[in-house]
Amino acid sequence: MDGFEVRTSNSKKGKGLFATKKFDQGDIILEEDPLISCQFAWNAAYRYLACDHCMKPLETPEQNVRRLSCKPDIVLPHSNCVESNLECITSCDQCAVLYCSEACKQKAFATYHQTICYDTSNAQHPITILLEAWKQMHYPPETTSIMLLVRILAFIQQSPDPVDAASRIKQFCHRTVNEDAELVHKLLGEQFASQIGTLRDLTANVVSGEHAQEFLTPEGFCSLMALIGTNGQGIGTSPLAMWVNAVLELTMSDDERQQLDLFIDKLYQYVEEESGTFLNTEGSGLYQVQSASNHSCAPNAESLFPYGNHRIQLKATKPIMPGDEICISYLDECSLQRSRHSRQKELAQNYLFVCWCEKCSAQATEPDCTSEEDMSDDDDVDADD
Ligand SMILES: [Zn+2]
Ligand SMILES: [Zn+2]
Ligand SMILES: [Zn+2]
Repeated sequence: MDGFEVRTSNSKKGKGLFATKKFDQGDIILEEDPLISCQFAWNAAYRYLACDHCMKPLETPEQNVRRLSCKPDIVLPHSNCVESNLECITSCDQCAVLYCSEACKQKAFATYHQTICYDTSNAQHPITILLEAWKQMHYPPETTSIMLLVRILAFIQQSPDPVDAASRIKQFCHRTVNEDAELVHKLLGEQFASQIGTLRDLTANVVSGEHAQEFLTPEGFCSLMALIGTNGQGIGTSPLAMWVNAVLELTMSDDERQQLDLFIDKLYQYVEEESGTFLNTEGSGLYQVQSASNHSCAPNAESLFPYGNHRIQLKATKPIMPGDEICISYLDECSLQRSRHSRQKELAQNYLFVCWCEKCSAQATEPDCTSEEDMSDDDDVDADD
């Protein structure tokens, strides 16, 4: 590790990520592949074709925008500024799932896929049954996937040192049984008591090895569900977005630039008409170092996916001094702009903590609710409880 360390922060927050050297705004703090990642179930069902291991989309930006807009004639200028390498696509010899490269195929098979490789066309297979049950419980917008949990169990099972693998997974969770139950309740909603039993039974049919057993007890399974719900980092990849970022970097005349901007606006308009805002290949993953970064409503770093796959990058958004805690925001841009009251409510519901970041502390003396918009937002939140 260079420039950062994971250590205990103040008593309440547990572990945190701290800088050991100075970072300027825009500096890359770290890059990391996840221990395990997985595309969301509905996202895959909606033909967001991606590498089964690294989630790299298996289409060019042009194919992507044509599919999402249902306009097969769109031609993207400067299409060679994004490398798609589709000629490297390969598949599992047994189940035919697709990989972006031989390297991903080998890595997946060696770490978890061998245990859960199955005939995806078999409707009676335990994994098909589990996946269908999950999709009936967890509709888009998706926040996690039962297959991430299954891959974790397969990863432990297939590890040359399963005890060590299990302990690496357990490092992600530091909660009580009651807290786990509360988080799972939030994740699955009102039906949770019967649903979690169903999911546990169906999962036990899929991964049954001896080292998975401790995670298949009612408490162990609940803890693993809470773990993927809170520690799973969302991953989003989009060939179209990569193309847009790349063409914005090109040098061109003001006139050309203006035309390109108009063209890009029009593309997004077409896409939105056909596909709404459901545009990215989406999934989630467990990152050993990045997941140690705590939340702040005034973060000094952000998580990015610059390679269009599951490799994460943590980038400084402000200057960071040695000894500073490196924090990201668990809330999206929009939630971050809301009042302290709204932010605290969302964090308490989804992550079970009270935020005392510098922004929240500074706003602690302000009235609880500051705008009508916040009031109606709160109503929305209450409605889906
Ligand atoms: Zn891949
Ligand atoms: Zn396979
Ligand atoms: Zn805060």
